[in-house]
Amino acid sequence: MIKLHDKYFKPFVSAKEIDAALQRMANEIAADVGDEIPVFVGVLNGSFMVVSDFVKKYPKPCEVTFIKLASYEGVKSSDDIQRLIGLTQDLTGRTVIILEDIIDTGKTLAEIHRIFKNENVKALKIATLFYKPEAYKKDFKLHYIGIEIPNKFIVGYGLDYDGLGRDLPEVYQIKQTQHMTNLVLFGPPGAGKGTQA
Ligand code: 5GP
Ligand code: MG
Ligand code: MG
Repeated sequence: MIKLHDKYFKPFVSAKEIDAALQRMANEIAADVGDEIPVFVGVLNGSFMVVSDFVKKYPKPCEVTFIKLASYEGVKSSDDIQRLIGLTQDLTGRTVIILEDIIDTGKTLAEIHRIFKNENVKALKIATLFYKPEAYKKDFKLHYIGIEIPNKFIVGYGLDYDGLGRDLPEVYQIKQTQHMTNLVLFGPPGAGKGTQA
C-alpha cells in the first residue's frame, strides 16, 4: 500500500500486466495498418509512459507526436478542455492513432475529435491503455483497449493524484475508507443511514 497526499492506494495492475497489454495492442495495430506508417499521437501529460513503452513494442516504422490538453476542473465547467499544445504538423492523408492513458467519461476524447475534425486525416483511431466502461458517456468508438477497469480512481504509470504518482512503474487503486464508502452509499452525514435520493 502507498500514500499520496491524504489518500491510500493498493496495488492494482502490475508492470508485467501493463507490458502484456501494450504488446497486444502494438501487434493488433501493426496488423491493422498494413504497409502504412501511422502517426501515434500521445495526449500529455498522462500518456507519456504509455507512448514511450508502446512505440518500443511497435514492430514497424512509425512517427510519434504529442498534444497537450488540460481541463479547467474546479475552475469552470468540467466540460471545458484547454489546448495547451495543439497539433504541430500537417497530418493530411495520414493514419493517426491516438494513444491515451485512460478513457473515463470521454470528455477529453470529445475534444480530440474536435481537434481532428478539420485535419483531413485518412483515419483516426483511438487506443487507450485503461478504459472505465461504467463511466464512459460518449459514443465515439474505441478501437484498441488495453485493460478495462471498474469506475475507481487509479494512479501510477503516468496517472497522477494531484501531481503525485505519475512516476510509479505500476498502477494502484484508491483504497476507499469506511467514511468514503458511507458517503457514497448513504449521502452526507445527517441524511440518515439508508436514506437515498
Ligand atoms: P475523461 O476526459 O475521459 O473523463 O478523462 C480523461 C482524463 O481524466 C485522463 O486523461 C486523466 O487525466 C483523468 N482521469 C480519469 N480517470 C482517472 C483515474 O482513475 N486516475 C487518474 N489519475 N486520472 C484519471
Ligand atoms: Mg489522458
Ligand atoms: Mg491528472
